[in-house]
Amino acid sequence: MAHKVTLIPGDGTGPEITEVTAKVVEATGVKIDWEIAHAGVDIMEKEGTPLPQSTLDSIAKNKVALKGPITTPIGTGFRSVNVAIRKELDLFSCLRPCKTYKGVKSKYENIDLVVVRENTEDLYAGVEYPEDSEESKKIIELSKNKIREHSAISIKPISAFGTERIVRFAFDYAVKHNRKKVTAVTKANIMKCTDGLFYKTAREVAKEFEGKIEYEERLIDNMCMQLVQKPELYDVIALPNLYGDILSDLCAGLVGGLGVAPGANFGKDMAVFEAVHGSAPKYKGLNKVNPTALILSAKLMLDYLGETAAASRLEKAVSEVIAEKKQVTYDLGGTAGTKEMGNAIIGKLK
Ligand code: NAD
Repeated sequence: MAHKVTLIPGDGTGPEITEVTAKVVEATGVKIDWEIAHAGVDIMEKEGTPLPQSTLDSIAKNKVALKGPITTPIGTGFRSVNVAIRKELDLFSCLRPCKTYKGVKSKYENIDLVVVRENTEDLYAGVEYPEDSEESKKIIELSKNKIREHSAISIKPISAFGTERIVRFAFDYAVKHNRKKVTAVTKANIMKCTDGLFYKTAREVAKEFEGKIEYEERLIDNMCMQLVQKPELYDVIALPNLYGDILSDLCAGLVGGLGVAPGANFGKDMAVFEAVHGSAPKYKGLNKVNPTALILSAKLMLDYLGETAAASRLEKAVSEVIAEKKQVTYDLGGTAGTKEMGNAIIGKLK
């Protein structure tokens, strides 16, 4: 039976890479019944919202979506459509595997890291008060003058509930994918309450996996340096939202950049797969950008759907095309377009 999957082309270069990715997935032989749903600036012009309810309903019904990048519209009341999708569907966990592929220019070799980022809490909760607002004045008063007058304030909520589920996700992922270690990363020496709670909760979860998966802790500043100097020491890395956002771009940089960085967002019983990169609007319609990040996101989707053999074949096909360097896009040093690189991958799958 075909898997029913919501396909969101997105905007900017999104539709081009999504079209190629869908064809590549079909070439693996896995039967997918795509349900097209729209989000982004193009649909906003037609429907007055960049995120129609019908798109959220389609993901909620099918439980799996493959999503092209979406431009963050300015002045619509949406902080970001991408953040809104994660929030509306409670996709609490963001997974970003970072792996070196032969042929991708990088200063490093043999990197195979997985960043697990909390998606719903922390400074991304959207609880912010402008300078001189009633709320910020009250908080300044509560702080007993620790906060300077006329400050704008962003609140950083971290809960045991939110931490428990993200750390458990990281450990479960480690077990399922034969990983050895989970490193929890915060700045708990300074943010003793919020990041302190993250560590306290993570330690409790880690106890359940004792003897199976190693657990360790690092401070975010030290972790940045360690990853640049000794990335081979790390395996699965679990972090609160903001540190996770920054560190996943650092890890994408270690393995050669955004063109090859896949991602996925998981909730309790659903998942949305998307590249780490954005809509690269300056290249829209030029058949120029690299489809690899979304294709590797689709590989994660096939794994999630239980199509593990097809997922491995797809990853192998991608890595062969990259290694041969004949049909690769500009960012990988080639002259091929989005479609041509996709066709080369399809050729390897035949
Ligand atoms: P971007 O990732 O779209 O592009 C930055 C640059 O990286 C591009 O100009 C291009 O040089 C390069 N690049 C990105 N993707 C590439 C690819 N597949 N192949 C080759 N080169 C690639 O980042 P931006 O310009 O900061 O953001 C553009 C829009 O995308 C913004 O509105 C932003 O909010 C949005 N965005 C969306 C997502 C998402 O959909 N999940 C993620 C990040 C940014």
